[in-house]
Amino acid sequence: MTLQTLSNLIDGRLVAPVDGLYLDVVEPATGLTFARCPDSGPADVALAAAAAQRAFPAWSHLPATERAGHLNRLADLIERRLEDFAAAESRDSGKPLALARSVDIPRAVSNLRFFAAAITQWSSEAHAMEERALNYTLRQPLGTVACISPWNLPLYLFTWKIAPALATGNCVLAKPSEVTPLTAHMLAEASIEAGFPAGVLNVLQGSGARTGQSLVDEDAVKAVSFTGSTRVGAQIAQSAARRFVKTSLELGGKNATLVFADWEGSDAQLDTIVRSAFSNQGQICLCGSRILVERSRYAEFRDRFVARAAALRVGDPLQDGSDLGAVVSRAHFDKVLGCIALAREEGGTLLTGGGAVKLDGRCAAGWFIAPTVIEGLGPGCRTNQEEIFGPVVTLQPFDDEAEALAVANGTNYGLAATVWTRDLQRAHRVAARLHSGIVWINCWMLRDLRTPFGGVKQSGVGREGGVEALRFFSEAKNVCIALG
Ligand code: NAD
Repeated sequence: MTLQTLSNLIDGRLVAPVDGLYLDVVEPATGLTFARCPDSGPADVALAAAAAQRAFPAWSHLPATERAGHLNRLADLIERRLEDFAAAESRDSGKPLALARSVDIPRAVSNLRFFAAAITQWSSEAHAMEERALNYTLRQPLGTVACISPWNLPLYLFTWKIAPALATGNCVLAKPSEVTPLTAHMLAEASIEAGFPAGVLNVLQGSGARTGQSLVDEDAVKAVSFTGSTRVGAQIAQSAARRFVKTSLELGGKNATLVFADWEGSDAQLDTIVRSAFSNQGQICLCGSRILVERSRYAEFRDRFVARAAALRVGDPLQDGSDLGAVVSRAHFDKVLGCIALAREEGGTLLTGGGAVKLDGRCAAGWFIAPTVIEGLGPGCRTNQEEIFGPVVTLQPFDDEAEALAVANGTNYGLAATVWTRDLQRAHRVAARLHSGIVWINCWMLRDLRTPFGGVKQSGVGREGGVEALRFFSEAKNVCIALG
Protein backbone atom coordinates (compact mmCIF):
# COMPACT_ATOMS: atom_id res chain seq x y z
CA MET A 1 0.00 0.00 0.00
CA THR A 2 1.41 3.44 -0.88
CA LEU A 3 1.38 5.74 2.08
CA GLN A 4 -0.11 9.20 1.79
CA THR A 5 2.52 11.81 2.75
CA LEU A 6 1.21 14.87 4.57
CA SER A 7 2.87 18.30 4.49
CA ASN A 8 3.18 21.41 6.56
CA LEU A 9 1.54 24.66 5.47
CA ILE A 10 4.14 27.42 5.75
CA ASP A 11 3.96 30.83 4.09
CA GLY A 12 1.03 29.77 1.93
CA ARG A 13 2.69 26.63 0.53
CA LEU A 14 2.52 22.93 1.34
CA VAL A 15 6.07 21.92 2.20
CA ALA A 16 8.06 18.98 3.55
CA PRO A 17 9.72 19.28 6.97
CA VAL A 18 13.22 20.80 6.89
CA ASP A 19 14.85 17.87 8.71
CA GLY A 20 12.98 15.26 6.65
CA LEU A 21 11.54 13.51 9.71
CA TYR A 22 8.14 11.79 9.52
CA LEU A 23 5.79 9.93 11.87
CA ASP A 24 3.53 6.99 11.01
CA VAL A 25 -0.20 7.66 10.92
CA VAL A 26 -2.18 4.55 11.88
CA GLU A 27 -5.85 3.63 11.31
CA PRO A 28 -7.23 2.55 14.71
CA ALA A 29 -9.88 0.26 13.19
CA THR A 30 -7.28 -1.86 11.36
CA GLY A 31 -4.00 -1.18 13.16
CA LEU A 32 -2.42 -0.42 9.75
CA THR A 33 -0.22 2.54 8.87
CA PHE A 34 -1.81 4.47 6.00
CA ALA A 35 0.02 7.80 5.96
CA ARG A 36 3.02 9.65 7.32
CA CYS A 37 3.08 13.14 8.69
CA PRO A 38 5.98 15.55 9.22
CA ASP A 39 7.61 15.63 12.62
CA SER A 40 8.41 19.32 12.43
CA GLY A 41 11.19 20.86 14.47
CA PRO A 42 12.49 24.29 15.48
CA ALA A 43 13.61 25.08 11.90
CA ASP A 44 10.08 24.59 10.51
CA VAL A 45 8.61 26.59 13.37
CA ALA A 46 11.09 29.44 12.76
CA LEU A 47 10.13 29.58 9.06
CA ALA A 48 6.44 29.63 9.91
CA ALA A 49 6.94 32.29 12.59
CA ALA A 50 8.85 34.52 10.15
CA ALA A 51 6.07 34.12 7.58
CA ALA A 52 3.44 34.94 10.19
CA GLN A 53 5.27 38.07 11.25
CA ARG A 54 5.53 39.23 7.66
CA ALA A 55 1.81 38.63 7.11
CA PHE A 56 0.64 40.26 10.34
CA PRO A 57 0.60 44.00 9.42
CA ALA A 58 -1.64 43.52 6.38
CA TRP A 59 -3.88 40.84 7.94
CA SER A 60 -4.45 42.75 11.17
CA HIS A 61 -5.36 45.89 9.22
CA LEU A 62 -7.89 44.21 6.95
CA PRO A 63 -11.45 45.24 7.77
CA ALA A 64 -13.12 42.61 9.96
CA THR A 65 -15.62 41.87 7.19
CA GLU A 66 -12.75 40.80 4.90
CA ARG A 67 -11.20 38.51 7.50
CA ALA A 68 -14.69 37.09 8.03
CA GLY A 69 -14.94 36.54 4.26
CA HIS A 70 -11.83 34.33 4.32
CA LEU A 71 -13.21 32.26 7.21
CA ASN A 72 -16.56 31.87 5.47
CA ARG A 73 -14.93 30.76 2.22
CA LEU A 74 -12.93 28.15 4.15
CA ALA A 75 -16.14 26.98 5.85
CA ASP A 76 -17.86 26.68 2.45
CA LEU A 77 -15.03 24.58 1.03
CA ILE A 78 -15.08 22.19 3.99
CA GLU A 79 -18.85 21.91 3.80
CA ARG A 80 -18.66 21.16 0.08
CA ARG A 81 -16.24 18.30 0.84
CA LEU A 82 -18.02 17.19 4.01
CA GLU A 83 -18.04 13.51 3.01
CA ASP A 84 -14.28 13.48 2.33
CA PHE A 85 -13.52 15.24 5.58
CA ALA A 86 -15.82 12.92 7.56
CA ALA A 87 -14.27 9.80 5.99
CA ALA A 88 -10.77 11.08 6.79
CA GLU A 89 -11.73 11.93 10.38
CA SER A 90 -13.25 8.52 10.93
CA ARG A 91 -10.30 6.68 9.40
CA ASP A 92 -7.76 8.71 11.38
CA SER A 93 -9.45 8.58 14.79
CA GLY A 94 -11.55 5.38 14.79
CA LYS A 95 -14.80 7.28 15.46
CA PRO A 96 -17.97 6.13 13.70
CA LEU A 97 -18.28 7.74 10.28
CA ALA A 98 -21.85 8.70 11.14
CA LEU A 99 -20.57 10.73 14.10
CA ALA A 100 -17.90 12.50 12.06
CA ARG A 101 -20.52 13.27 9.40
CA SER A 102 -23.21 14.51 11.78
CA VAL A 103 -21.14 16.19 14.51
CA ASP A 104 -17.41 16.72 13.99
CA ILE A 105 -17.27 18.21 10.50
CA PRO A 106 -20.52 20.24 10.64
CA ARG A 107 -19.31 21.68 13.94
CA ALA A 108 -15.95 22.62 12.38
CA VAL A 109 -17.89 24.49 9.67
CA SER A 110 -20.02 26.20 12.36
CA ASN A 111 -16.93 27.24 14.32
CA LEU A 112 -15.53 29.06 11.29
CA ARG A 113 -18.86 30.71 10.45
CA PHE A 114 -19.61 31.59 14.06
CA PHE A 115 -16.36 33.53 14.58
CA ALA A 116 -16.64 35.10 11.13
CA ALA A 117 -19.99 36.52 12.20
CA ALA A 118 -18.83 37.32 15.74
CA ILE A 119 -15.94 39.53 14.66
CA THR A 120 -18.21 41.73 12.58
CA GLN A 121 -20.47 42.26 15.62
CA TRP A 122 -17.81 42.83 18.26
CA SER A 123 -17.64 46.04 20.24
CA SER A 124 -15.69 47.30 23.21
CA GLU A 125 -16.33 49.46 26.26
CA ALA A 126 -16.22 53.17 26.99
CA HIS A 127 -15.93 54.63 30.51
CA ALA A 128 -16.86 58.28 30.85
CA MET A 129 -15.48 60.27 33.82
CA GLU A 130 -18.32 62.76 33.75
CA GLU A 131 -17.05 65.74 31.75
CA ARG A 132 -13.36 65.35 32.73
CA ALA A 133 -12.32 62.49 30.49
CA LEU A 134 -13.44 59.64 28.31
CA ASN A 135 -11.81 56.20 28.41
CA TYR A 136 -12.33 53.69 25.67
CA THR A 137 -10.92 50.20 25.22
CA LEU A 138 -9.13 49.13 22.08
CA ARG A 139 -8.88 45.35 21.62
CA GLN A 140 -5.94 44.71 19.33
CA PRO A 141 -4.57 41.45 17.96
CA LEU A 142 -1.55 39.96 19.70
CA GLY A 143 0.57 39.14 16.63
CA THR A 144 1.57 35.50 16.20
CA VAL A 145 -0.24 32.92 18.31
CA ALA A 146 0.01 29.13 18.69
CA CYS A 147 -3.01 26.80 18.68
CA ILE A 148 -2.40 23.21 19.84
CA SER A 149 -5.20 20.65 19.72
CA PRO A 150 -5.78 16.99 20.75
CA TRP A 151 -6.87 13.84 18.89
CA ASN A 152 -10.36 13.22 20.22
CA LEU A 153 -12.25 15.86 18.20
CA PRO A 154 -9.59 16.70 15.63
CA LEU A 155 -11.07 19.22 13.20
CA TYR A 156 -13.76 20.35 15.65
CA LEU A 157 -11.21 21.58 18.22
CA PHE A 158 -8.63 22.72 15.66
CA THR A 159 -11.17 25.14 14.13
CA TRP A 160 -12.49 26.13 17.58
CA LYS A 161 -9.06 27.70 18.17
CA ILE A 162 -7.90 28.96 14.79
CA ALA A 163 -11.21 30.67 13.93
CA PRO A 164 -11.23 33.22 16.79
CA ALA A 165 -7.44 33.67 16.54
CA LEU A 166 -7.68 34.59 12.84
CA ALA A 167 -10.90 36.58 13.22
CA THR A 168 -9.29 38.91 15.75
CA GLY A 169 -6.45 39.64 13.31
CA ASN A 170 -3.68 37.35 14.53
CA CYS A 171 -1.48 35.13 12.40
CA VAL A 172 -1.54 31.53 13.51
CA LEU A 173 0.88 28.65 13.98
CA ALA A 174 -1.41 25.67 14.46
CA LYS A 175 -0.55 22.12 15.46
CA PRO A 176 -3.05 19.27 15.35
CA SER A 177 -2.37 16.06 17.24
CA GLU A 178 0.19 13.82 15.56
CA VAL A 179 -2.24 10.94 16.23
CA THR A 180 -4.91 12.50 13.96
CA PRO A 181 -3.22 14.87 11.49
CA LEU A 182 -5.33 14.21 8.39
CA THR A 183 -8.17 16.72 8.48
CA ALA A 184 -5.86 19.59 9.53
CA HIS A 185 -3.80 18.79 6.44
CA MET A 186 -6.98 18.91 4.33
CA LEU A 187 -7.93 22.22 5.95
CA ALA A 188 -4.47 23.58 5.11
CA GLU A 189 -5.07 22.68 1.44
CA ALA A 190 -8.51 24.28 1.56
CA SER A 191 -7.11 27.49 3.09
CA ILE A 192 -4.93 27.97 -0.01
CA GLU A 193 -7.99 27.51 -2.21
CA ALA A 194 -9.94 29.92 -0.01
CA GLY A 195 -7.32 32.58 -0.78
CA PHE A 196 -5.84 33.14 2.65
CA PRO A 197 -2.81 35.46 2.29
CA ALA A 198 0.49 33.61 2.67
CA GLY A 199 1.71 33.29 6.26
CA VAL A 200 -1.62 34.12 7.93
CA LEU A 201 -2.38 30.47 8.75
CA ASN A 202 0.49 28.02 9.12
CA VAL A 203 -0.08 24.35 9.98
CA LEU A 204 2.81 22.50 11.56
CA GLN A 205 2.45 18.76 11.88
CA GLY A 206 4.39 16.76 14.42
CA SER A 207 4.83 15.33 17.87
CA GLY A 208 4.19 17.18 21.09
CA ALA A 209 7.70 16.92 22.44
CA ARG A 210 9.31 18.24 19.24
CA THR A 211 6.83 20.40 17.30
CA GLY A 212 4.57 21.40 20.19
CA GLN A 213 7.40 22.35 22.49
CA SER A 214 9.15 24.31 19.68
CA LEU A 215 5.94 26.30 19.17
CA VAL A 216 5.60 27.14 22.84
CA ASP A 217 9.28 28.17 23.00
CA GLU A 218 9.22 30.25 19.77
CA ASP A 219 10.01 33.89 20.61
CA ALA A 220 7.46 35.30 18.16
CA VAL A 221 4.56 33.43 19.82
CA LYS A 222 2.57 35.78 22.05
CA ALA A 223 -0.13 33.38 23.24
CA VAL A 224 -0.77 29.64 23.37
CA SER A 225 -4.24 28.17 23.21
CA PHE A 226 -3.94 24.53 24.23
CA THR A 227 -6.46 21.72 24.57
CA GLY A 228 -5.19 18.37 25.83
CA SER A 229 -4.13 16.52 28.94
CA THR A 230 -3.55 18.08 32.34
CA ARG A 231 0.03 16.72 32.35
CA VAL A 232 0.98 18.51 29.12
CA GLY A 233 -0.99 21.60 30.16
CA ALA A 234 1.20 21.90 33.25
CA GLN A 235 4.35 21.62 31.11
CA ILE A 236 3.09 24.31 28.72
CA ALA A 237 2.18 26.61 31.61
CA GLN A 238 5.75 26.31 32.95
CA SER A 239 7.39 26.96 29.57
CA ALA A 240 5.04 29.86 28.82
CA ALA A 241 5.63 31.47 32.21
CA ARG A 242 9.35 31.79 31.44
CA ARG A 243 8.52 34.14 28.54
CA PHE A 244 5.36 35.68 30.08
CA VAL A 245 3.26 34.22 27.27
CA LYS A 246 -0.50 34.27 27.66
CA THR A 247 -2.10 30.80 27.88
CA SER A 248 -5.56 29.30 27.65
CA LEU A 249 -5.51 25.71 28.95
CA GLU A 250 -8.43 23.36 28.33
CA LEU A 251 -7.52 20.12 30.11
CA GLY A 252 -8.78 16.77 31.37
CA GLY A 253 -11.89 15.88 33.32
CA LYS A 254 -13.56 13.35 35.57
CA ASN A 255 -17.09 14.55 35.10
CA ALA A 256 -19.99 13.59 37.34
CA THR A 257 -23.53 12.81 36.20
CA LEU A 258 -25.99 13.34 39.09
CA VAL A 259 -29.29 11.47 38.84
CA PHE A 260 -31.77 12.49 41.53
CA ALA A 261 -34.71 10.30 42.52
CA ASP A 262 -37.08 12.88 41.03
CA TRP A 263 -35.56 12.69 37.55
CA GLU A 264 -38.08 12.19 34.77
CA GLY A 265 -36.61 8.81 33.86
CA SER A 266 -37.87 8.63 30.27
CA ASP A 267 -36.15 6.42 27.71
CA ALA A 268 -35.08 9.55 25.85
CA GLN A 269 -33.33 10.90 28.95
CA LEU A 270 -31.72 7.54 29.60
CA ASP A 271 -30.45 7.49 26.01
CA THR A 272 -28.84 10.89 26.56
CA ILE A 273 -27.13 9.63 29.72
CA VAL A 274 -25.86 6.57 27.80
CA ARG A 275 -24.61 8.88 25.04
CA SER A 276 -22.95 11.13 27.62
CA ALA A 277 -21.03 8.10 28.86
CA PHE A 278 -20.00 6.37 25.63
CA SER A 279 -20.07 8.85 22.72
CA ASN A 280 -16.87 8.70 20.67
CA GLN A 281 -15.86 5.63 22.76
CA GLY A 282 -15.97 7.84 25.88
CA GLN A 283 -13.18 9.97 24.43
CA ILE A 284 -14.84 13.36 24.86
CA CYS A 285 -13.55 15.59 27.63
CA LEU A 286 -17.21 16.27 28.53
CA CYS A 287 -18.30 12.63 28.91
CA GLY A 288 -19.76 11.78 32.31
CA SER A 289 -17.59 8.97 33.67
CA ARG A 290 -18.88 8.95 37.27
CA ILE A 291 -22.61 8.37 37.43
CA LEU A 292 -24.08 9.14 40.86
CA VAL A 293 -27.65 7.94 41.46
CA GLU A 294 -29.93 8.59 44.44
CA ARG A 295 -30.22 5.32 46.35
CA SER A 296 -34.03 4.96 46.20
CA ARG A 297 -33.82 4.65 42.37
CA TYR A 298 -30.34 3.19 42.10
CA ALA A 299 -31.25 -0.43 41.32
CA GLU A 300 -33.84 0.53 38.71
CA PHE A 301 -31.45 2.99 37.04
CA ARG A 302 -28.55 0.52 37.09
CA ASP A 303 -30.55 -2.23 35.43
CA ARG A 304 -31.90 0.02 32.67
CA PHE A 305 -28.54 1.73 32.08
CA VAL A 306 -26.58 -1.53 31.93
CA ALA A 307 -29.09 -3.06 29.50
CA ARG A 308 -28.66 -0.04 27.18
CA ALA A 309 -24.87 -0.07 27.46
CA ALA A 310 -24.72 -3.81 26.72
CA ALA A 311 -26.89 -3.31 23.62
CA LEU A 312 -24.55 -0.73 22.05
CA ARG A 313 -22.87 -2.07 18.92
CA VAL A 314 -19.10 -1.93 18.76
CA GLY A 315 -18.17 -2.24 15.11
CA ASP A 316 -16.33 -1.07 12.02
CA PRO A 317 -16.51 2.75 12.19
CA LEU A 318 -17.35 2.86 8.48
CA GLN A 319 -20.45 0.69 8.91
CA ASP A 320 -23.86 2.23 9.55
CA GLY A 321 -25.17 1.02 12.87
CA SER A 322 -21.84 0.99 14.73
CA ASP A 323 -22.47 2.92 17.94
CA LEU A 324 -18.85 2.73 19.01
CA GLY A 325 -15.77 2.50 16.82
CA ALA A 326 -12.15 1.92 17.81
CA VAL A 327 -10.21 3.79 20.49
CA VAL A 328 -7.60 6.05 19.01
CA SER A 329 -4.29 4.17 19.35
CA ARG A 330 -2.59 1.04 20.59
CA ALA A 331 -1.13 3.01 23.52
CA HIS A 332 -4.56 4.34 24.49
CA PHE A 333 -6.14 0.87 24.10
CA ASP A 334 -3.55 -0.54 26.53
CA LYS A 335 -4.10 2.36 28.93
CA VAL A 336 -7.89 1.90 29.03
CA LEU A 337 -7.61 -1.88 29.51
CA GLY A 338 -5.12 -1.18 32.32
CA CYS A 339 -7.69 1.10 33.98
CA ILE A 340 -10.30 -1.68 33.82
CA ALA A 341 -7.81 -4.11 35.40
CA LEU A 342 -7.14 -1.54 38.13
CA ALA A 343 -10.88 -1.17 38.80
CA ARG A 344 -11.06 -4.95 39.30
CA GLU A 345 -8.07 -4.88 41.68
CA GLU A 346 -9.74 -2.07 43.62
CA GLY A 347 -12.74 -4.33 44.19
CA GLY A 348 -15.11 -3.07 41.50
CA THR A 349 -17.80 -5.33 40.05
CA LEU A 350 -18.11 -5.37 36.26
CA LEU A 351 -21.76 -5.12 35.24
CA THR A 352 -21.10 -5.23 31.50
CA GLY A 353 -18.10 -5.03 29.16
CA GLY A 354 -14.68 -5.18 30.74
CA GLY A 355 -12.42 -6.00 27.83
CA ALA A 356 -11.40 -5.83 24.19
CA VAL A 357 -13.88 -6.67 21.43
CA LYS A 358 -12.54 -8.86 18.60
CA LEU A 359 -13.97 -8.07 15.18
CA ASP A 360 -13.55 -9.96 11.92
CA GLY A 361 -12.38 -8.97 8.47
CA ARG A 362 -10.59 -5.67 7.95
CA CYS A 363 -11.01 -4.77 11.64
CA ALA A 364 -9.45 -7.98 13.04
CA ALA A 365 -6.40 -6.11 14.35
CA GLY A 366 -8.25 -2.96 15.45
CA TRP A 367 -8.46 -1.48 18.94
CA PHE A 368 -12.04 -1.99 20.10
CA ILE A 369 -13.26 -1.95 23.71
CA ALA A 370 -16.70 -2.92 24.99
CA PRO A 371 -18.75 -0.28 26.84
CA THR A 372 -17.90 -1.03 30.45
CA VAL A 373 -19.94 -0.31 33.58
CA ILE A 374 -18.49 -0.83 37.06
CA GLU A 375 -20.10 -0.59 40.49
CA GLY A 376 -19.03 -1.12 44.07
CA LEU A 377 -16.17 1.40 44.18
CA GLY A 378 -15.91 4.29 46.66
CA PRO A 379 -15.40 7.88 45.52
CA GLY A 380 -11.76 8.07 46.64
CA CYS A 381 -10.30 5.15 44.67
CA ARG A 382 -8.06 5.74 41.66
CA THR A 383 -10.76 4.53 39.25
CA ASN A 384 -13.03 7.33 40.49
CA GLN A 385 -10.28 9.95 40.66
CA GLU A 386 -8.16 9.53 37.53
CA GLU A 387 -9.24 10.32 33.97
CA ILE A 388 -9.67 7.14 31.89
CA PHE A 389 -10.93 8.77 28.67
CA GLY A 390 -12.44 5.59 27.29
CA PRO A 391 -15.77 3.69 27.27
CA VAL A 392 -15.65 3.04 31.03
CA VAL A 393 -18.01 4.45 33.67
CA THR A 394 -18.71 3.78 37.33
CA LEU A 395 -22.03 3.85 39.17
CA GLN A 396 -22.25 5.06 42.77
CA PRO A 397 -25.36 5.46 44.96
CA PHE A 398 -25.86 8.55 47.18
CA ASP A 399 -28.30 9.32 49.99
CA ASP A 400 -28.90 13.06 49.75
CA GLU A 401 -28.01 16.22 47.86
CA ALA A 402 -25.13 17.10 50.19
CA GLU A 403 -23.49 13.73 49.64
CA ALA A 404 -24.02 13.94 45.87
CA LEU A 405 -22.30 17.35 45.80
CA ALA A 406 -19.43 16.20 48.01
CA VAL A 407 -18.74 13.19 45.77
CA ALA A 408 -19.18 15.16 42.53
CA ASN A 409 -16.81 17.89 43.78
CA GLY A 410 -14.37 15.46 45.36
CA THR A 411 -11.81 15.23 42.54
CA ASN A 412 -8.96 17.41 41.29
CA TYR A 413 -10.88 18.03 38.08
CA GLY A 414 -13.79 20.37 37.34
CA LEU A 415 -14.75 20.53 33.68
CA ALA A 416 -18.42 19.59 33.31
CA ALA A 417 -21.28 18.09 35.30
CA THR A 418 -24.75 16.93 34.36
CA VAL A 419 -27.78 17.05 36.67
CA TRP A 420 -31.00 15.11 36.16
CA THR A 421 -33.91 16.35 38.28
CA ARG A 422 -37.43 17.74 37.91
CA ASP A 423 -37.02 20.01 40.95
CA LEU A 424 -36.29 23.49 39.60
CA GLN A 425 -34.99 24.86 42.89
CA ARG A 426 -32.67 21.92 43.32
CA ALA A 427 -31.42 22.33 39.76
CA HIS A 428 -30.35 25.95 40.36
CA ARG A 429 -28.94 25.23 43.82
CA VAL A 430 -26.85 22.26 42.70
CA ALA A 431 -25.65 24.07 39.55
CA ALA A 432 -24.36 26.93 41.69
CA ARG A 433 -22.58 24.57 44.10
CA LEU A 434 -20.89 22.28 41.60
CA HIS A 435 -17.17 22.95 41.13
CA SER A 436 -17.11 22.86 37.34
CA GLY A 437 -16.95 25.23 34.41
CA ILE A 438 -20.05 23.81 32.71
CA VAL A 439 -23.28 22.38 34.14
CA TRP A 440 -25.97 20.74 32.01
CA ILE A 441 -29.42 20.25 33.49
CA ASN A 442 -31.59 17.56 31.92
CA CYS A 443 -29.43 17.61 28.79
CA TRP A 444 -25.86 16.98 27.67
CA MET A 445 -23.61 18.53 25.02
CA LEU A 446 -26.20 21.12 24.13
CA ARG A 447 -23.79 23.81 22.96
CA ASP A 448 -24.38 27.47 22.20
CA LEU A 449 -21.11 28.78 20.76
CA ARG A 450 -21.60 32.15 22.49
CA THR A 451 -21.25 30.63 25.96
CA PRO A 452 -18.02 30.50 27.98
CA PHE A 453 -16.29 27.12 27.80
CA GLY A 454 -13.62 25.81 30.17
CA GLY A 455 -12.84 24.15 33.45
CA VAL A 456 -11.78 24.81 37.04
CA LYS A 457 -9.11 23.14 39.19
CA GLN A 458 -6.94 20.82 37.07
CA SER A 459 -9.41 20.95 34.17
CA GLY A 460 -7.96 24.23 33.02
CA VAL A 461 -7.31 27.92 33.25
CA GLY A 462 -9.17 30.45 31.14
CA ARG A 463 -12.27 30.32 28.99
CA GLU A 464 -12.87 29.91 25.28
CA GLY A 465 -16.08 30.34 23.27
CA GLY A 466 -17.88 33.51 22.18
CA VAL A 467 -16.38 36.80 23.32
CA GLU A 468 -14.15 34.95 25.80
CA ALA A 469 -12.15 33.60 22.86
CA LEU A 470 -12.06 36.99 21.11
CA ARG A 471 -10.79 38.54 24.33
CA PHE A 472 -8.13 35.85 24.81
CA PHE A 473 -6.75 36.43 21.35
CA SER A 474 -6.55 40.21 21.77
CA GLU A 475 -4.87 42.73 24.05
CA ALA A 476 -7.03 45.33 25.76
CA LYS A 477 -5.64 48.86 25.66
CA ASN A 478 -7.24 51.72 27.57
CA VAL A 479 -7.18 55.12 25.86
CA CYS A 480 -7.95 58.09 28.12
CA ILE A 481 -8.82 61.46 26.53
CA ALA A 482 -9.00 64.55 28.67
CA LEU A 483 -12.14 66.51 27.86
CA GLY A 484 -11.48 69.60 29.94
P1 NAD B 1 -2.07 15.51 24.96
O1 NAD B 1 -1.91 16.48 26.07
O2 NAD B 1 -1.21 14.32 24.94
O3 NAD B 1 -1.79 16.25 23.56
C1 NAD B 1 -2.54 17.38 23.15
C2 NAD B 1 -1.72 18.15 22.13
O4 NAD B 1 -0.57 18.68 22.77
C3 NAD B 1 -1.22 17.30 20.97
O5 NAD B 1 -1.25 18.07 19.79
C4 NAD B 1 0.21 17.00 21.38
O6 NAD B 1 1.06 16.71 20.31
C5 NAD B 1 0.61 18.31 22.06
N1 NAD B 1 1.73 18.24 22.99
C6 NAD B 1 2.16 17.18 23.72
N2 NAD B 1 3.25 17.54 24.44
C7 NAD B 1 3.49 18.84 24.19
C8 NAD B 1 4.45 19.79 24.66
N3 NAD B 1 5.40 19.46 25.53
N4 NAD B 1 4.37 21.05 24.22
C9 NAD B 1 3.41 21.43 23.35
N5 NAD B 1 2.47 20.59 22.86
C10 NAD B 1 2.52 19.31 23.28
O7 NAD B 1 -3.61 15.16 24.91
P2 NAD B 1 -4.33 14.09 23.96
O8 NAD B 1 -3.97 12.74 24.46
O9 NAD B 1 -4.09 14.45 22.55
O10 NAD B 1 -5.88 14.39 24.26
C11 NAD B 1 -6.59 13.84 25.32
C12 NAD B 1 -6.68 14.80 26.49
O11 NAD B 1 -7.26 16.02 26.07
C13 NAD B 1 -7.58 14.28 27.59
O12 NAD B 1 -6.97 14.53 28.84
C14 NAD B 1 -8.84 15.13 27.45
O13 NAD B 1 -9.60 15.30 28.62
C15 NAD B 1 -8.27 16.42 26.99
N6 NAD B 1 -9.27 17.24 26.32
C16 NAD B 1 -9.75 18.35 26.95
C17 NAD B 1 -10.73 19.14 26.35
C18 NAD B 1 -11.25 20.40 27.01
O14 NAD B 1 -11.91 21.16 26.33
N7 NAD B 1 -11.00 20.62 28.29
C19 NAD B 1 -11.21 18.78 25.09
C20 NAD B 1 -10.72 17.63 24.47
C21 NAD B 1 -9.74 16.87 25.10
